[in-house]
Amino acid sequence: QVSDDEQKKGKNICSLTMSSHVGFESLPDQLVNRSIQQGFCFNILCVGETGIGKSTLTDTLFNTNFEDQESSHFCPPVKLKAQTYKLQESNSYQPIADYIDAQFEAYLQEEMKIKQSLFNYHDSRIHVCLYFLSPTGHSLKTLDLLTMKNLDSKMNIIPVIAKADTISKTELQKFKIKLMSELVSNGVQIYQFPTDDDTVARINAAMNGQLSFAVVGSMDEVKIRNKMVKAHQDPWGVVQVENENHCDFVKLREMLICKNMEDLRKQTHTRHYKLYRRCKSEEMGFSDVGPENKPVSLQETYEAKRHEFHGERQRKEEEMKQMSVQRVKEKEAILKEAKFEHLKRVHQEERMKPEEKRRILDKEIIDFSKKKATCEIFQTQSFLVWAPISCKTEV
Ligand code: GDP
Repeated sequence: QVSDDEQKKGKNICSLTMSSHVGFESLPDQLVNRSIQQGFCFNILCVGETGIGKSTLTDTLFNTNFEDQESSHFCPPVKLKAQTYKLQESNSYQPIADYIDAQFEAYLQEEMKIKQSLFNYHDSRIHVCLYFLSPTGHSLKTLDLLTMKNLDSKMNIIPVIAKADTISKTELQKFKIKLMSELVSNGVQIYQFPTDDDTVARINAAMNGQLSFAVVGSMDEVKIRNKMVKAHQDPWGVVQVENENHCDFVKLREMLICKNMEDLRKQTHTRHYKLYRRCKSEEMGFSDVGPENKPVSLQETYEAKRHEFHGERQRKEEEMKQMSVQRVKEKEAILKEAKFEHLKRVHQEERMKPEEKRRILDKEIIDFSKKKATCEIFQTQSFLVWAPISCKTEV
């Protein structure tokens, strides 16, 4: 440290030389180092009919056999960890759509946690879908068209023509043009390699013009000019998988893994996942944008919504309290009324009792009077009958 006085005097000023370059150019190295340390997930979903060559192509792409792969705890430090998920095969795109949504939902749940741990989250979202098409040479199958149309907003789709060795080169060219025009005319949004980054703009633009990639997959090796190469041996010849004159396998691998992996991951998050999140939020009554169309974080929206719900709940509770007080009052009034009616009836009954007794007594008196009168008549009549008999006895 140099004091102001010393600076003024121009003495003891030490000039430092930088030990390394300081600048933005070190940023990619930092990103690379971070990715090496933390690792990252890149999920490929292969869609296509059974036996079209999905397993063979993924094995060929990663030069491995996914079926028998067993991981050990003592792997060498630099290793690509690949994961595959088996989907139940079906004639509908719905199980695929459900699967993709389930992965988005899992990420959303993690994102909504107060204590997130997204940096070490195992991301299972689908970053790219390789859609395998049969090399028929004819139109696209309706099922394929329908499936792609319904899934293109959920993931990045790259259509590939499978088993390209089973169709002639001229037929393949015609087929490529036909299926791309069918995809465009049916409004299917397939993944476009980005052209906004200067370093890859030229090659990506060229590759966009060559879609769909016609691929051949094979783990078999044949010796060609003293070199073992991956190839598919047909009765009519040998097709070298990694020979660009034979098929587009290398182009696909280059575009997928070397050039655009990061963009595929980014598109998955910013386009497809955010669309899912927005739809989900809207379903739940949330919105991604605030006043003046400013974006709002999910947590902010959640907090605002929580406050709103809290206020609403308090208002409802107050309303219910008022209602129950009102009900109690009404019930009391009813009870009072009922009690009054009851007392009135009891009083009336009580008042009726002496009157009833008097009526009974009156009736008893009348009955008695009647009986008395009858008795008196009987007494007179028996005297009259008895007198002649006594006269007779005297004779
Ligand atoms: P999946 O059911 O889609 O996974 O298909 P598989 O990868 O199991 O392949 C089915 C069959 O097609 C296997 O016998 C493969 O050897 C064969 N196959 C795979 N890829 C190709 C290819 O590019 N060309 C040819 N001709 N056959 C292939």
